[in-house]
Amino acid sequence: MDTGKIRVRFAPSPTGLLHVGNARTALFNWLFARRMGGDFILRIENTDAERSGERHEKQIIEDLCWLGLNWDEGPNEVDGGERGAFGPYRQAKRTEIYAAHTKRLLLDEQAYRCFCTPEDLEAERKKALAEHRPQVYSGKCRGLSKALITQNLSKGKPYAVRLKIPGNPIRFHDMVRGDLEFAPGTISDPILVRSAQGGANGASPGVPVYNYVVAVDDALMGITHVIRGDDHISNTPKQVAIFEAFNWKVPEFAHLSTILGSDRERLSKRHGATSISSFREMGYLPEALVNYLALLGWGAEDGKTEIFTPDQLVHAFALERVTPSPAIFDVEKLNRLNRHFMKLAEPARLASLCWDYFGGLMPGKEDASDAVLVWFFHVVALLAPSVNHLDALPAKAAFIFHIDPGLARDDEENAAILKTDSARTVLTELAARVRAHSGGVTASDFATWMNEVKEAAAVDGNDLYHPVRIALTGSHSGPDFDKLIPLIEQGAALSLGIPSVRERLEQ
Ligand code: GLU
Repeated sequence: MDTGKIRVRFAPSPTGLLHVGNARTALFNWLFARRMGGDFILRIENTDAERSGERHEKQIIEDLCWLGLNWDEGPNEVDGGERGAFGPYRQAKRTEIYAAHTKRLLLDEQAYRCFCTPEDLEAERKKALAEHRPQVYSGKCRGLSKALITQNLSKGKPYAVRLKIPGNPIRFHDMVRGDLEFAPGTISDPILVRSAQGGANGASPGVPVYNYVVAVDDALMGITHVIRGDDHISNTPKQVAIFEAFNWKVPEFAHLSTILGSDRERLSKRHGATSISSFREMGYLPEALVNYLALLGWGAEDGKTEIFTPDQLVHAFALERVTPSPAIFDVEKLNRLNRHFMKLAEPARLASLCWDYFGGLMPGKEDASDAVLVWFFHVVALLAPSVNHLDALPAKAAFIFHIDPGLARDDEENAAILKTDSARTVLTELAARVRAHSGGVTASDFATWMNEVKEAAAVDGNDLYHPVRIALTGSHSGPDFDKLIPLIEQGAALSLGIPSVRERLEQ
């Protein structure tokens, strides 16, 4: 099915959450399609009815949408329908297509019925093991006579359908690894359809297997490039043999390297968050994750640029620069990128993304007045660049909402600072000025008083600033006073229970 266009697909099995590895596969497919003006197809590989779930399909779709990886053909995002001329795009809906193709392969004698029982196969396996031979199926049922087949079928003997692997080496080109070759005798005749109780009509009612349906679908959907994880390399020769048995054009392949954790073990839950939904829940921005995923096995032409918006990635991406060596998942690098993109993001967007994390501190978004909204934008704009992800913001902003009088004293270093004579003088001098002032405190009032206190207490630098910061925020480091003072004062005027500068100094 040659459409004259580049066509790629992401083909998840909906058996769990979308993880970093699969999301990277989806991204590379998407980038390649967008770069080349091709089509990106989403196909749901749900032939394994027991393990596949609609819930997982929905979640995968949601995650892909969140990452911005839009597809041209496949299941619709919301209504459960489909779009595109090559459907159905869910394998469970394609059973008749597979059955028709199995019939054709059997008729063409490219495939055969294998009546071997699990016990027969186990005995073969043991024998091969004992003789130190590769455990490859002997092909015992390849040459069964028509009469014997008919007899077996009429007895209702269960059978699998196997492909006849050719006697010559199987070769294919991998855009990441170069030319690959698999010698004859190293690959069993692959099962295309699993064994089940056979029917006299000659069509096996068994379930078609991944290697088979994936090849049929890739061919019928006109897929030109198969980009997927390198855990599928050993499947590829079988799929190539299926393509060849049908006389179909074999697509290009690109197998992406494994993603490892910092200990160089395969990335898993042990390494922390690995699912896209968990990164979303932690308040990572999708553009940061997309940028980071792109760097897992791909690099810019100049060998150094690491920051890319999704659009820039589309322009820069080239499959030729995908490396075959394993990629190491480095959460620190992801954090750096997230901080970068948070700095660029509109405060209103960030505020809306992290509102729910502030439950208990802030009113619900719908109940918030404009003044509360604007004030919250400022809080977020000021503090977001200092956290790695947005769910860490409430803890970082806690000092604005309430200052725990115990806090400064519990911290030994802070307590020691507050106990000094000079700190006491500084705070007494400052509190006196605040008390003598009526109305809210502006940043310039505060700057004037700090200058006066500096003179009056004859202290400077950290001796001046640290006690004041600790009294106001519970910590001796934090945002500049000219940003902090208005935030505290505006917050205090909003009936959110936020203590004012005066209240903080009097605690
Ligand atoms: N459903 C397979 C998987 O999730 C797809 C493999 C492929 O892309 O061919 O691993």
